[in-house]
Amino acid sequence: MSRVFNFSAGPGTLPEEVLQQAADELLDYKGSGMSVMEMSHRSSWYDDIHKKAEKDLREIMNIPDNYKVLFLQGGAHLQFSMIPLNLKNSGKADYFITGNWAKKAYKEGAKYLDAKAVASSEDKQFTYIPKLDESALRSDADFLHITTNNTVYGTRISEKDIVCLDNVPLVADMSSNILSEVYDVSKFGLIYAGAQKNMGPAGVTIVIVREDLIKDTDSLVPTMLQYKTHSEKDSLYNTPPCYSIYICGLVYEWIKKNGGVAAMQKINEEKAKMLYDCIDNSKLFKGTVEKPYRSLMNVNFVTGSEELDKKFIKEAAERGIANIKGYRTVGGMRASIYNAMPVEGVKALVEFMKEFEAKNA
Ligand SMILES: *Cc1c(COP(=O)(O)O)cnc(C)c1O
Repeated sequence: MSRVFNFSAGPGTLPEEVLQQAADELLDYKGSGMSVMEMSHRSSWYDDIHKKAEKDLREIMNIPDNYKVLFLQGGAHLQFSMIPLNLKNSGKADYFITGNWAKKAYKEGAKYLDAKAVASSEDKQFTYIPKLDESALRSDADFLHITTNNTVYGTRISEKDIVCLDNVPLVADMSSNILSEVYDVSKFGLIYAGAQKNMGPAGVTIVIVREDLIKDTDSLVPTMLQYKTHSEKDSLYNTPPCYSIYICGLVYEWIKKNGGVAAMQKINEEKAKMLYDCIDNSKLFKGTVEKPYRSLMNVNFVTGSEELDKKFIKEAAERGIANIKGYRTVGGMRASIYNAMPVEGVKALVEFMKEFEAKNA
């Protein structure tokens, strides 16, 4: 068996140790005589998995006690709808448009609320984070929605750059950078993330929500789309995505073992620096976003020639550097270097880039 370095943007690479443990436990989970996929979600075996996953996530993210952790389905996309449906009060919401996912969240929000785009970087293809002026924010908004990492174009909003009003809940889509750098959860009203980028397999979405934001919704909101439903039953109202939650739990354990989120951040900064340094010192490759806003997770670059990009992607794949092709509307290359991408993977990519440049520049 040989595994490639998988630079896919999502689903993303998972730690090999986690996959190995899952393989070891696949047929007989800890003497239960069955797979986690086959066990009742009401069994004590599963109950332990479910509780431990939540406990470990709380620990590594330092989630305060007045927040609920929910394991839901429907991906980050369903949160685009659930958030306005559940947080609606004044009926106004502000959206910070820093990428196509942020824009999608805004468009969905506009179905239910008076949604306002308070700033946008679409004028330059989302290649920077615009300045967010406090005066553009509405003090009676039900929330301000931001996307902390722009997966497609490769920009990020780190915690120090977040602008929001004290009394307006801050809602963050952290799908592609949750657990990659430290954020103070207490600054947010709600954080959500599809698991499949930096946490586990597709099928589960994590929602971390401050308790006071969980309230009765309009009566027509489907039961399954109410936070209250899931919160009251500890995400066991109906059958949860048990296996995905189990793998997420193993990933949380792996992060704990490796020093926690701060340690992940340090390695992620080193990995990103190696790649950006290579790009900045190259005569062939160019980064595609403004430097101060560069993502730690998704690194976009181009040669300037579509043909050379194609050749690069093809030859990279032949060497086990997989899924380096950019998003379909952006083109070029995108290396997604999530927590589970080892330093060796980034080194292999950098080496190949240098070699490719020597031959093709
Ligand atoms: C991938 C992604 C989404 C969409 O996630 P789904 O789980 O497929 O709905 C939303 N937001 C961001 C930031 C993403 O990276």
